[in-house]
Amino acid sequence: MPLWKQIFIALTLGVVLGVALNQSGYGEYAASIKPIGDLFLNGIRMLIVPLIFVSLVSGVTSLRDMSTMGRLSIKTLSLYLGTTAVAIMIGLALAMIFKPGVGIDLGAAQAVTVAESPSLIATLVALVPANPVAAFAQGNVLQIIVFAILFGLAITLGGEAAKPVKKFMDSLAEVFYKFTGIIIAFAPYGVFALVTWVAGTYGLELLAPLAKVIGVVYLGCLIHAAVVYAGLIKFVAGLSPVRYVQGVIEPAIVAFSSTSSAGTLPVTMMSAERNLGVSRGVSSFVLPLGTTINMDGTALYQGVCALFIAQAYGIDLSLAQYATIVLTATLASIGTAGVPGAGLIMLSLVLTSVGLPLEGVAIIAGIDRILDMARTSLNVVGDCAVAVVVAKSEGQLDQTLYDTAHVLKSTDIPNQLQSSQV
Ligand code: ASP
Repeated sequence: MPLWKQIFIALTLGVVLGVALNQSGYGEYAASIKPIGDLFLNGIRMLIVPLIFVSLVSGVTSLRDMSTMGRLSIKTLSLYLGTTAVAIMIGLALAMIFKPGVGIDLGAAQAVTVAESPSLIATLVALVPANPVAAFAQGNVLQIIVFAILFGLAITLGGEAAKPVKKFMDSLAEVFYKFTGIIIAFAPYGVFALVTWVAGTYGLELLAPLAKVIGVVYLGCLIHAAVVYAGLIKFVAGLSPVRYVQGVIEPAIVAFSSTSSAGTLPVTMMSAERNLGVSRGVSSFVLPLGTTINMDGTALYQGVCALFIAQAYGIDLSLAQYATIVLTATLASIGTAGVPGAGLIMLSLVLTSVGLPLEGVAIIAGIDRILDMARTSLNVVGDCAVAVVVAKSEGQLDQTLYDTAHVLKSTDIPNQLQSSQV
């Protein structure tokens, strides 16, 4: 059975078991299965830093010339920013139509403190790691990207003398892809444990009052994927959206259950290359960058939540305030780390920018995990869509692989592991 089917079945079983435990009053037992999920997540996190570095160095040295890098960056950043702005507008529009905040009782709201946003200059200066070892130790993705690109360029400039390093990095990249395959083989178990835990812990009584806001965020994510991403894939890249869905299903489900796009990165890179035919040069640059700065799901969620809070407090927003929300939510989503719950912290920035009461954040906090699942999936699916479009436009997409391989192939998972699973 292909891996994505196993993961999908694990997801379904997890929901069924979790809800059953919760409804029969044994919800607290769902938490006892969570360590299995954490084990899987640790396994993925273990790979993030070495995988980004090694595959990006190998990717940069495989690019034909240095101007390719500049073109890639411009295309990628424009697509990332453009899709994010559209996502917020979809969120705002749906919140206007469905009015999830009308009639909500904010009695239980408590005060919250505003997140500090770092200045633009400080952010730019911090892109270059003064101490690369510290960047690796802290898992600072942007700094690792900068270091890896410069390292890769130096290898290319080194010519003949640097060839052995290039060969070594290419070989190491292969090793890490196999390594990723080993961890991904455990995805069904990890997903099952995490989903059982969430479904078992969140009771219907907690979700019911906010069902509308949950529904609007999920609907928004579906619409954004079906209209914006499918549209980009079909009309800009000229590829089949159905194949695209099949190709991204694994990272989408891992993101859904882990609520961390950074934590899903190894799965995302593997799927983009092996399922969607994106070259390593493109995937190793576009995807790590995407997990750090491209958060369409987070932006959409912030749009919905800002309006939800305004409606709950009976505050009418002006056109200028809507424009401010689009701008700040785009910037806030860039600054959001791809870790669980980060979007909630950044929501306070968006609210402050238009003078909305911060107490609303406390209401959202109670159900944030459920919202995080949807927005993280959209974040990851969006990164893949941009990777495919950029790769196609650069002639860096293996069309045969895109059209035929829509599941991780058995060769990606070591044989011993497969047989031990049977
Ligand atoms: N959890 C999200 C992610 O990792 C970020 C967020 O909280 O919005 O992509």
